[in-house]
Amino acid sequence: MEPVFTVLVFSSVVVAFVIFNYAKLKHHMSSTFLSGEDIILTDTIERKNENRRLHLPTVRQRKSTNLPSGRIGLVPSVLPVQEKVVPLSVNYHFTRKCNYQCGFCFHTAKTSFVLPLEDAKRGLSLLKDAGMEKINFSGGEPFIVKRGAFVGELVRFCKESLQLPSVTIVSNGSLVTENWFKTYGAYLDILAVSCDSFDPDTNEKIGRQQGQKNHLSSLRSVRRLCAEYQVAFKLNSVVNTYNKDENMVEEVKQLNPCRWKVFQCLLIDGENAGADAIRNAQTFVISDEEFQSFLERHRDVECLVPESNEKMQNSYLILDEYMRFLDCTKGSKQPSKSLLDVGVDNALLFSGFDERMFFKRGGQYVWSKADMRLEW
Ligand code: SF4
Repeated sequence: MEPVFTVLVFSSVVVAFVIFNYAKLKHHMSSTFLSGEDIILTDTIERKNENRRLHLPTVRQRKSTNLPSGRIGLVPSVLPVQEKVVPLSVNYHFTRKCNYQCGFCFHTAKTSFVLPLEDAKRGLSLLKDAGMEKINFSGGEPFIVKRGAFVGELVRFCKESLQLPSVTIVSNGSLVTENWFKTYGAYLDILAVSCDSFDPDTNEKIGRQQGQKNHLSSLRSVRRLCAEYQVAFKLNSVVNTYNKDENMVEEVKQLNPCRWKVFQCLLIDGENAGADAIRNAQTFVISDEEFQSFLERHRDVECLVPESNEKMQNSYLILDEYMRFLDCTKGSKQPSKSLLDVGVDNALLFSGFDERMFFKRGGQYVWSKADMRLEW
């Protein structure tokens, strides 16, 4: 019995070893990246260095360079390649022009440039090829260009031709018409409207209006159109000196947005702070405690998604009007080269994007209207 028992134990150990290594290899091969210096055996790859990452295709290439079979020892790493960022969710600020004058605006009218429509579509196709699933069109005011037809054509292109799961717009709402919804509403998942206060005087102090046109009327009109044309409605608010003590609970509940993004007023050098800036938002800035107090007052609003300065600053992939990523890590917006000239991967290296914070702040959520259970 004893030799049989020994053989059984030995066989079990061998089988367990093979299964373990096979599972490890499978897991490893299914990962997007491999790490640093890899020992390549005929059928096994072992991680030796967690610090550097290589793209899988690079390793596959190396495996196919007529290497002899059997254990071949250490293969020197090729150039260390930075972990690849997938531009899952992109914010394209295609215009800087706006009909409002918000004192804290952090994407100001420094140029009047807008890309030709076909160039913008080409850039969006490149982003889709790089893994983009959500596009948000923003400004400035997106509906100011060609009375909404420019953003409308981009929305239609992204949904119909690129088949993006999520196509959204952030607008101040004042230039949105029913005709626009009739033509383009079917292609849009979410329309977000910015509103910081339900007190017209406060909106006036903030600059969130054009002339005497009432911002709250525009907001309610867009809300109604969203329901009628089955576009999910979202609300964005910036907490600042003028609205920090307001209680918006009842009005927000009435509007019933799918999401209420609440931002802490943020200073960006060259946009709303510093000598070169068009705006000076110093007087709008609130403390972290004041922001927390606003959140606490609105804790019963279930759809509220808070965004402090820390969460907000580097967790967005922002494209400007030239399709350059803007790196905000140093407190100003440093542009990359245009992705139309250097490609998405190269431009992304200069985006300053904090992907970990993007996921931590809940940047990926149910963003297709088809997946939302909305009562229109
Ligand atoms: S609505 Fe206000 S914050 Fe938005 S782009 Fe216009 S001025 Fe800036």
